[in-house]
Amino acid sequence: MAQPLTIALSKGRIFKETLPLLAGADIVPAKDPEQSRELVIGSNHPDIRFLILRASDVPVYVQYGGADIGVVGKDVLMEHGGEGLYEPLDLQIACCRLMVAGRDGSLLESSQRLRIATKYVKCTEQYFASRSRQVEVIKLYGSMEIAPVTGLADLIVDVVDSGATLRANGLVPLEHIADISSRLIVNRASMKTNHARISDLIQSLKQTIRDSNSV
Ligand code: AMP
Repeated sequence: MAQPLTIALSKGRIFKETLPLLAGADIVPAKDPEQSRELVIGSNHPDIRFLILRASDVPVYVQYGGADIGVVGKDVLMEHGGEGLYEPLDLQIACCRLMVAGRDGSLLESSQRLRIATKYVKCTEQYFASRSRQVEVIKLYGSMEIAPVTGLADLIVDVVDSGATLRANGLVPLEHIADISSRLIVNRASMKTNHARISDLIQSLKQTIRDSNSV
């Protein structure tokens, strides 16, 4: 009997885009988390279950062994720091860019100390420190785009896909910090104790990604 496997996922885009990859490994959740309030969901295998978590909690659950593996955006992973985790695979889904944005680029040219609103505090501090630029970072949990318009901050750092949300709020993308996609993460102890099953899953996911890239 194979060892049980707990997979941590967040709702929404990551869940939807991970489903076809897992189906390639014959793993299908028993319920759609958008249609159910259950946060622990079974699968077509009696020993595989899913935890439905807030995205920023996925690396925390996997780090401390609450889940064996998880799927999480590189943005969330960079902000978490990646301690206690393996990151064996870029799933090439939920792609976007972590960017500095604002009403226009003139503030970036000036030497004044800038206020940056973001939920990515660590990434923002590292990015501006690497450019020898002193900034004050204000932590927000959402709707960052409003911060420059209301004068709360000069600029924001957020993930951008089409750019429509920035445009709708009078902002433009200014500087590119990192390309983002979802990653498979694995608890370090699980990688040893459940090695055969996790490496089979990684191989199967790799094959499905290769197949979808060659279409
Ligand atoms: P867009 O208007 O297409 O640029 O999308 C930007 C909005 O969607 C922002 O509010 C982001 O927080 C969110 N978003 C876009 N792509 C992602 C992603 N891959 N992961 C998480 N949030 C995203």
